Amino acid sequence: MKVVVVGSGASGVHFALSALERGHTVEMIDVGRERSEPVRPDDTFEELKRTLDDPVAHFLGRDFEAVTLPGPGGEYYGFPPNKRYVFEGTEALRASTRGFAPLVSFAQGGLCEAWTGGVFPFTNGELAEFPFSYEEILPRYELVAERIGICGVEDDLAPWFPAHRHLLPPLDIDEHSGRLLARYRGCRERLLRELGFRMGRSRIATLSRDSGGRKACGYLGRCLTGCPTDSLYTPLDTLRRCREHSRFTYRGGLRARHFEADADGRIERLTCDPADGGESVIVPVERLVLAAGTLATGKVFLESWYRRTGEMPPLTGLMDNRQILMPFLNLSMVGRPHDPNSYQYHQLAIGLEAEDPLEYVHGLVTTLKTASIHPIVQSLPFDLRTSLNVFRSVHASARL
Ligand SMILES: Cc1cc2nc3c(=O)[nH]c(=O)nc-3n(C[C@H](O)[C@H](O)[C@H](O)COP(=O)(O)OP(=O)(O)OC[C@H]3O[C@@H](n4cnc5c(N)ncnc54)[C@H](O)[C@@H]3O)c2cc1C
Ligand code: SF4
Repeated sequence: MKVVVVGSGASGVHFALSALERGHTVEMIDVGRERSEPVRPDDTFEELKRTLDDPVAHFLGRDFEAVTLPGPGGEYYGFPPNKRYVFEGTEALRASTRGFAPLVSFAQGGLCEAWTGGVFPFTNGELAEFPFSYEEILPRYELVAERIGICGVEDDLAPWFPAHRHLLPPLDIDEHSGRLLARYRGCRERLLRELGFRMGRSRIATLSRDSGGRKACGYLGRCLTGCPTDSLYTPLDTLRRCREHSRFTYRGGLRARHFEADADGRIERLTCDPADGGESVIVPVERLVLAAGTLATGKVFLESWYRRTGEMPPLTGLMDNRQILMPFLNLSMVGRPHDPNSYQYHQLAIGLEAEDPLEYVHGLVTTLKTASIHPIVQSLPFDLRTSLNVFRSVHASARL
């Protein structure tokens, strides 16, 4: 059977690879903006600052477009210039929102080209309203873990994200995270009894040993600007594996607009617009899988429905997750140097239990290492020189 898959994000590529492995033919339709080649892939973050001709353009952009200016609503993390393409061209899909900040991607590989690699299986409590249980999707979690490489251990957080097969040993823990974990271990019974608080190693899609042509994390410290050795997984790795199948075709530069069905409701064709403009393209469809991300998929579906019925069905809600950033200092690290040659994202996770599993609070603890420091420095209530000095003495102790 021929399957048309729209989108090359995490959902699209894993569906496509599974379909190919089962003998189907897959045609992938994708806007698919491409990432640029990594510069000096063997250099660490600090080496890159010294060896690049124009490090300022690399880290902040030729027109300083990655600089976070002071003002209300400022972020602690800005996206570096080479990640901007992940969100480019999607403004129209995010035009008017209240109370939430949607992110949409037209990148080859989708939003995971900018993700932080946290991969946490749902528990039965969280899946209560889904038509399948944890036990039923466990083999799929294991298959994906085998494909992408996931580090994790069975520790205090196992009740909240259960351990499954194909987990790799954890990455080397950075000094800050190691201290925090040791401190937690000293008072874990009390924290659990009084607050329902647990801490453990995060579950991350980064290789701690070479696998499938990808290298183990070499602690280059460049995770934020894009891992140059592909140790941190992105869907481009799975797309590469799809391309190895002769029954796979990739058609980039096409934006699916709507599909049409016959009188019995069987979808027959997909209308796409070339991303650079021009005549629409009609793709014949036997089976259609929309994996264009939540909002872009919603748009294709709603437009198709409207064309067929003349009615716009009301959306009853989107599943989103509320995020809160909480900066804090680890006082035992004040005055110590920060280590840029380490993994840059969360190495620890925390959980706050609640009676209702849907009220469980999941937290990730990220040490501030090679992220741009100017959004924080400029928010300190001192002159620039004092703010820089104050920040430097607490840099290694800062966390989110
Ligand atoms: C900064 C950041 C950090 C994140 N961290 C994590 C994390 O740690 N853990 C986690 O689980 N999740 C994380 N996420 C979320 C995760 O990246 C997304 O949930 C995931 O990428 C969604 O995958 P998807 O395949 O559904 O869609 P997307 O990744 O959105 O991919 C959409 C694909 O569809 C294509 N497309 C879109 N519209 C069309 C169209 N009309 N026609 C043709 N092609 C189209 C695009 O080119 C793209 O290839 C993070 C996201 C961001 C932005
Ligand atoms: S530290 Fe980050 S950028 Fe460096 S190899 Fe590891 S995952 Fe890649």
